[in-house]
Amino acid sequence: MSNAKPETLKYVPTTCPYCGVGCGLNLIVSDGKAVGVAPWQRSPINEGKLCPKGMTCWEFIHSPDRLTKPLIKKNGKFEEASWDEALDLVAKKFKEISDKNGPRSLGFQVSCRTPNEECYIMQKLARVGFKTNNVDNCARICHGPSVAGLSLSFGSGAATNPFEDVLNSDFILVWGSNAVEAHPLAGRRIAQAKLKGIPVMVVDPRYSPTAKLADTWIRFNPSTHIALINSMMYWIIKENLHDKEFIEKRTKGFEDLKKTVESYADVEKVTGVPTETVKDMARKYAAAKNAVIIYCLGITELTTGTDNVRSLGNLSMLCGNIGRPGVGVNPLRGQNNVQGACDMGAYPNVYSGYQKCELPEMRKKMEDAWGVTGLPDWYGSTLTEQITQCGDPIKAMYIFALNPAVSYPDSNHVKRSLEKLDFLVVQDIFFTETCEYADVVLPGASFAEKDGTFTSGERRINRVRKAVNPPGEAKEDWEIFVLLAKKLGLKGFDFKSPQEIWDDMRKVTPSMFGATNARIDKPGSVHWPCPTEEHPGTPILHKEKFASADGLGTFFGIEYRPPAEVADAEYPFTLMTGRLIFHYHTRTQTDRSKVLHYEVPENYVQINTEDAKKLGIKEDEHIKVRSRRGETTPLARITDDVAPGVLYMAMHFPNGANNLTNTALDPMSKMPELKHCAVAVEKITEAK
Ligand code: SF4
Repeated sequence: MSNAKPETLKYVPTTCPYCGVGCGLNLIVSDGKAVGVAPWQRSPINEGKLCPKGMTCWEFIHSPDRLTKPLIKKNGKFEEASWDEALDLVAKKFKEISDKNGPRSLGFQVSCRTPNEECYIMQKLARVGFKTNNVDNCARICHGPSVAGLSLSFGSGAATNPFEDVLNSDFILVWGSNAVEAHPLAGRRIAQAKLKGIPVMVVDPRYSPTAKLADTWIRFNPSTHIALINSMMYWIIKENLHDKEFIEKRTKGFEDLKKTVESYADVEKVTGVPTETVKDMARKYAAAKNAVIIYCLGITELTTGTDNVRSLGNLSMLCGNIGRPGVGVNPLRGQNNVQGACDMGAYPNVYSGYQKCELPEMRKKMEDAWGVTGLPDWYGSTLTEQITQCGDPIKAMYIFALNPAVSYPDSNHVKRSLEKLDFLVVQDIFFTETCEYADVVLPGASFAEKDGTFTSGERRINRVRKAVNPPGEAKEDWEIFVLLAKKLGLKGFDFKSPQEIWDDMRKVTPSMFGATNARIDKPGSVHWPCPTEEHPGTPILHKEKFASADGLGTFFGIEYRPPAEVADAEYPFTLMTGRLIFHYHTRTQTDRSKVLHYEVPENYVQINTEDAKKLGIKEDEHIKVRSRRGETTPLARITDDVAPGVLYMAMHFPNGANNLTNTALDPMSKMPELKHCAVAVEKITEAK
């Protein structure tokens, strides 16, 4: 914190702008500037505790690097422009391109770090203004498979139980999640549970900080989840440990599952896990009265992402672990508003509350509410599909608070694609790597400079409060969309505050109708579904019946299939990617914190001790890591936390992991295979 005088300080309770745990905190304001962060004890989520990112989230707000004026590229160089000039140009170009090439020629990319109200208004602008469903958000490249998989299994694509509910469990199974680093205050709940004596099992190819906290760590071969889960289910059924009453009364498809898992008794060759260990895993999970599954991107960021999620759904239903305290299947959401961006309909096939665009009655309802006709019924292009379609058919793109040049797979492909666009708008708070490719850059506001809500990974709608003004001529992002809608002559965008936008959304969204602004304003807020103003909200889903049309959960028989690209003679290492506790997304915010930058100023890769020895690699020397798509030169960190033949690199750095990653997609959710690709490693020798 700065040395402002205590009597001048104002405390503004708000929500952390980083991960999807949604911790409450106080921004400390002095003389119109954010000068620090203090615990907000009334937040039931984090009870006044914060991780290093939360504690330092005020530091980037007044950075001298903030965008303060609209920029227009003229003759290859950016020049400052007025808001009128910039928005006139955006409206004119989008209209021209749409009139000439149709609604599929535009792409709208919505951020998961911006409030619900801004996600909602942007998708409304795309649909009302341009009759396009080419609108998607960056949940696509983290939890798209959770939305798809949990919807198929349970009828709702969201976490089933709140974070603190792990304290009611008898067994915690953490699968493909490094919660201690990526979701530290959710990790704290797991640590609290362990202190209470609740056993914690972590299943992860890497001996992560979360694995180090566990009672049991199961190392398995990267991306072999389905084989391992199927084998657990084989042994649960074989030893008659499954919950027959739950299966009979509340589910369908069990016979299909049973038949599929029959060939998975021994999966050691595929997974590397001995059969006796799998039996032990199965017995521990099945024996617990209440067992909860927590998972994250280790499960989702694969071409089998949706099937991995459905497999965890299968496992939970097999033992009746759904619909009461201490059980469930819970994805930990990466960015602060991943859940909300999806809930708000920033998705190519649904409106807010997951109401399907393909249904005529749903389109009619939205057309009536929004005062338009001709809303599209087609499934729009997803985030990474839009990148591949740059040039044909997509000619113009609007990127809101995202940095695809660093965060999407195969960065070189992304950059080449963006160059093919006729017109690109980027709206952000810093001049990111992606801004280089823009025609117009619009300066938006940070979380501290606007009101609104973020929805956390436990479906809790948390309040974001304005503490300071945006810098220079930067504007609150919802206001930019209102001004643009005015330039386009659109009706239904005459909003004077984010609260009015929330009410516009609420009116058309049954699952959130009861979440009024007054209720959200209180500490703790509500969990959706919350259909009426009297409804208490729903911290635990699927209590009496599942959210599917027939009220039943669905088992799926799912066969294991390997990743799209596996190690071979030319690229003999498997690269896994992940997050660090000290950074967020592409570091545009966290690297402007002195503390966080000091902790991890540079990209590094973890390599096994034996591999490093064979290649003559020393600790902290730069090495070259190559894939079929590109290369990068991180520092080497030598450790036995990764197995021989496996590397681990964080995703945050430009010209880093995503120079290497694979764009192959999960066929169901269109998730790229960010967690698994084949690479080669070379020692860099000095030229003589
Ligand atoms: Fe912010 Fe997540 Fe840390 Fe909480 S755990 S302080 S939400 S980054």
